[in-house]
Amino acid sequence: APCHLDGRWLPLNQAQVSVLDRGFLFGDGVYEVIPVYGGRLFRFDEHMARLAHSLDAVRIANPHSRDGWLTLLRELVARELAHSGQGDQLAYLQITRGVAPRSHPMPTGLTPTVFAMSQPHQPPGADQRREGVACVTARDFRWERGDIKTTSLLGGVMARQIAADHGAAETILLRDSGHGHGLTVTEGSSSNVWAVLDGALIGVPPSHHTLAGIRIELLRELCEEEGIACHLRPIAESELTIADEILISSAGREVLPVTRLDGEPVGHGALRGKPGPVYARLHAAYERAKLE
Ligand code: PLP
Repeated sequence: APCHLDGRWLPLNQAQVSVLDRGFLFGDGVYEVIPVYGGRLFRFDEHMARLAHSLDAVRIANPHSRDGWLTLLRELVARELAHSGQGDQLAYLQITRGVAPRSHPMPTGLTPTVFAMSQPHQPPGADQRREGVACVTARDFRWERGDIKTTSLLGGVMARQIAADHGAAETILLRDSGHGHGLTVTEGSSSNVWAVLDGALIGVPPSHHTLAGIRIELLRELCEEEGIACHLRPIAESELTIADEILISSAGREVLPVTRLDGEPVGHGALRGKPGPVYARLHAAYERAKLE
């Protein structure tokens, strides 16, 4: 498969970076994952805005303009399409601070390491869409800058492994809200979390504890189109157990129904443990949005 490293195109298995790269030594870098449908980058400008936020937060100068990124990523997608024949891809890009003798403070004057690859997108399978996925809950033990999409992902890796150890698809993280309201949902290890309560889709308000998922605004728009009420407000742990539906969203998983939580079926009545109607409508709307 083709990839891009510091201005050069080369096969992925031949791309190499220095062991003194701060991405390797410190996880000192940021990244983006952008879905590609039919060879077209999906929500490109939104991903670029979030990349700019991450870069600003860690004080790495953006190595490319918006149009520079667009040119680079379009070429990447075209090369991957020629290689795999797949027009549906997940494009990955990362920027690390660069190569320097190991020392914590941010060195100045480094050339950032720029890497990009794209892989065929394996969207959720028909079984996951029909049955939904199982999730577990856990305390959010990650740091307090979840708004930065950083390659320092050990917290996310450890959080996800809790689900993997239980044969579940995702770990839904809970943090003390600090306002005496007990635990509230932050997000999944690599997804945003939604609950359907009283017919409305509820998402978590943006904060330093969560990544501003590109699908948050997208699902809000799709709710608007569908006439589904949608609010961002804290979701209490106890609300997960009474929710009619729980959903997760991310670039790779798009939108998926959570039908088991900590071993218990989600929802009520005939829909207990089954994907619900809000999921079904949002999934259909998502599929239409891909084609726009
Ligand atoms: N939260 C975390 C921690 C993530 O890693 C991701 C990435 O997929 C998301 C949320 C969802 O964001 P997006 O919809 O932009 O993929």
